[in-house]
Amino acid sequence: MKNTPKLVVGLALIVLLGGCAAGGGFDVQKALGVGGGVLQATTLSEDSVKQTATLAAAELDRQTKVADDNDPYAVRLRNLTKGLEHYDGLNLNFKVYLAPDVNAFAMADGTVRVYSGILDAMPDDQVFAVIAHEMGHVKLKHSYEQMREQILSDTAFQAAASIGGYIGSLTSSQLGQLGKKAIDAHFSQADELEADAYSVKALHRLKKDPRAMKASILTLEGLYGVGGGFLSSHPSNPKRIEQIDLAISKL
Ligand SMILES: [Zn+2]
Repeated sequence: MKNTPKLVVGLALIVLLGGCAAGGGFDVQKALGVGGGVLQATTLSEDSVKQTATLAAAELDRQTKVADDNDPYAVRLRNLTKGLEHYDGLNLNFKVYLAPDVNAFAMADGTVRVYSGILDAMPDDQVFAVIAHEMGHVKLKHSYEQMREQILSDTAFQAAASIGGYIGSLTSSQLGQLGKKAIDAHFSQADELEADAYSVKALHRLKKDPRAMKASILTLEGLYGVGGGFLSSHPSNPKRIEQIDLAISKL
């Protein structure tokens, strides 16, 4: 249900594009021919979205200072995430971005990026809880839905996606744009609470203390105040902590 309004807008835009951009290089015949561009936009495949996420992540990695293998931050993250590469049916890959931002994010393909700023701000157990929260966004398809909506709400991306349900060639600038949207992703309150609950369960399953998820939120609160920080833009911290406690009580 969440996607319906944007999907409708997406369809309206591609019809508009088909109707008015004949002189602008857009292949109307291809868009409205057998199979139809409209239908193809609606059938944009999950694989295609994930492949686009991989390309967008590669572009972000090119634009950002990534800690090399011997960097102490990279060593720390590698130790923390050892054995997590295929956790819960996911294909995860982890890297450190050398930047002071107290931030981490994930993408639909299982890309997880952790900023050195968060490694400076939190002890290992809390960083791990944050990583598990990000893994939750991947597993629960929040990251996938977010990127899919980005593609379907932008005419240029739609044009690239209108060929057989697969994304055609996107420029590095477009990929970078999609990547930045993933960094700044604003998920719904429900999604954030779900990712917190996922983290709690994952920590428990991995024989770690699930209270670390709560502690990471309190660390951010200490840095930014209530309602600040990348994990806590919404819902409110007390609400999140209440829900985390509830998830812990159900373990
Ligand atoms: Zn989140």
